Amino acid sequence: MARIIAVTNQKGGVGKTTTCVNLAASLAATKRRVLLVDMDPQGNATMGSGVDKNGVDLSGYDLLTKRASAAEVIVPVENAGFDLLPANGDLTAAEVELMNEIGREHRLRLCLNTVRENYDYVLIDCPPSLNLLTVNALSAADTVLIPMQCEYYALEGLAALMNTVEQIQETVNPNLQVEGILRTMYDPRNSLTLDVSGQLSEYFGDKVYKAVIPRNVRLAEAPSYGLPALKYDRASKGAVAYLALAGEMVRRHGSKAPGAVAV
Ligand code: ADP
Ligand code: MG
Repeated sequence: MARIIAVTNQKGGVGKTTTCVNLAASLAATKRRVLLVDMDPQGNATMGSGVDKNGVDLSGYDLLTKRASAAEVIVPVENAGFDLLPANGDLTAAEVELMNEIGREHRLRLCLNTVRENYDYVLIDCPPSLNLLTVNALSAADTVLIPMQCEYYALEGLAALMNTVEQIQETVNPNLQVEGILRTMYDPRNSLTLDVSGQLSEYFGDKVYKAVIPRNVRLAEAPSYGLPALKYDRASKGAVAYLALAGEMVRRHGSKAPGAVAV
């Protein structure tokens, strides 16, 4: 049964989408069965996976408004070895349509339950705000993975995010846990980075991944080719860092994938 991980941070530009696409590809490279769910109307995770967000027949909009099932919406990303539940601007309309529905916070969870056993990991890429789409992601998730840049205001943002997690625990999802904190665009030559990094470890202890993601131009270039860095430049520092993260995650969860079948 898949572990469902929402990749979230209310701040934009911290590397949520980059983490989703590259972690999905890296977990797939370790033979885990992975589904990437794009819950951001910008559709960056969709495009970054090489799927034309405006060319898909069905998307997250059809899923959340009950026009299609998860199995019907999911497409394989042949290049990278994971499956994708694509999104585009229509997702904003789904949010509006859901507003007056009973159980609106739980739509995604119910949809993902129907395919959960097909995967070891489900990663959900969240939009950079606390809207109904994010609440749906946090309601469906077992855990949150928080990418963050080690800069001064990051800690403030993190406090706000922990507050959100608490509110979600008190309302729609009492079982929500923190999966881990991922330091992105990491520059160890910067003393502020090291300061913030130290404070993070003090507060979150071993929830902070040992793997750090360096600032690496290949990670920024790869999406324009619709590829994870692993398929664009396998030897790049970015690709190697995300492989290390996948390894660390898999080890944390035990050597076997959570849903792996014994053979
Ligand atoms: P978010 O989804 O949180 O808004 P993105 O993953 O889209 O953030 O990243 C924001 C921008 O920074 C993108 O242009 C992306 O290509 C770039 N980027 C993300 N991570 C890195 C990195 N480690 N090194 C260099 N550029 C990065
Ligand atoms: Mg994004």
